[in-house]
Amino acid sequence: AKQAGKGTYMLYGQNMQQYFDERVIIEKHLREAIDNNELSLQYQPKVTLPNGELWGFEALIRWNSPVLGFVSPLSFIGIAEDCRLIIPIGEWVLRKACLFLAGLHRQGLGPYHISVNISVIQLLMDDFAETVLKILRETGLNPRYLELEITESIIMESFEEISIKLEYLKQQGIGIALDDFGTGYSSLSYLKQLPITTLKIDKSFIDGLPGEGSSMPLAGSIVAIGHDMGLIVTAEGVETKEQLEFLRRVNCDKVQGYYISRPIAEGQVQAWTRQYARQ
Ligand code: C2E
Ligand code: CA
Ligand code: CA
Ligand code: CA
Repeated sequence: AKQAGKGTYMLYGQNMQQYFDERVIIEKHLREAIDNNELSLQYQPKVTLPNGELWGFEALIRWNSPVLGFVSPLSFIGIAEDCRLIIPIGEWVLRKACLFLAGLHRQGLGPYHISVNISVIQLLMDDFAETVLKILRETGLNPRYLELEITESIIMESFEEISIKLEYLKQQGIGIALDDFGTGYSSLSYLKQLPITTLKIDKSFIDGLPGEGSSMPLAGSIVAIGHDMGLIVTAEGVETKEQLEFLRRVNCDKVQGYYISRPIAEGQVQAWTRQYARQ
């Protein structure tokens, strides 16, 4: 393992054995992370176009281990899935995020939305839908303010089972976003059958924007396809003014990225929100 930028611990196994050892170490420490209060959430703003109004936030998990330091979710989420720790961790994330948003609403801010990343392991649990609705009841958050972000790759595995659950949650008013769209292998006909409300264009399609010449960048075509299917289209990884302007021009509905704001620590969200409203 190596310290990546900004003191973040990433997996860098030089060979199979080292890679395996690192996974064992991460799993061992992760088992205690919830109880020891080592996990936290950051919130990255999402704004609607064309006007840039604050729509809400995506909750992103952070792990500060006393032994390993900051560990990137890119390093530990996959391990948490393999050892099923993602089930308690995912439930913790959902409850924490809903509580946080309900708290903002009680203070008269918003109402804003919250997007929460959900792993396929969570979706495959028989009681997944019940758990989500239970957390909404407990936290007093209206389902319409919750959005679940799921990735394409996951749904292929158990299309029927997952579709039924997502359809049910969608009927309760919960938003369903297909995350990292364009990086998987889903066909358009299959996309049409999925009970989703939003397409989230992967950052890799945003990076090259606005591009050169007269050909329409893929991101523009994805927005058009999404709209044809009656979906809301969000772009992630927006880092420049030019990208934002391109996305506004092609009628993308929502954007998120460092250009608007980096993920914000819980304690700073209120101040950021008030400041953003003033500008
Ligand atoms: P994701 O869902 O695609 O989240 C977007 C990632 O891109 C986040 O990284 C975010 O901090 C980063 N990002 C946002 N805007 C920009 C930008 O303009 N430029 C660049 N370069 N990056 C940007 P993060 O927080 O490290 O999370 C990585 C991945 O870990 C997430 O990718 C998601 O797949 C997973 N993840 C994070 N939190 C959770 C969680 O609570 N549950 C689950 N199951 N997965 C999570
Ligand atoms: Ca996401
Ligand atoms: Ca994403
Ligand atoms: Ca992505």
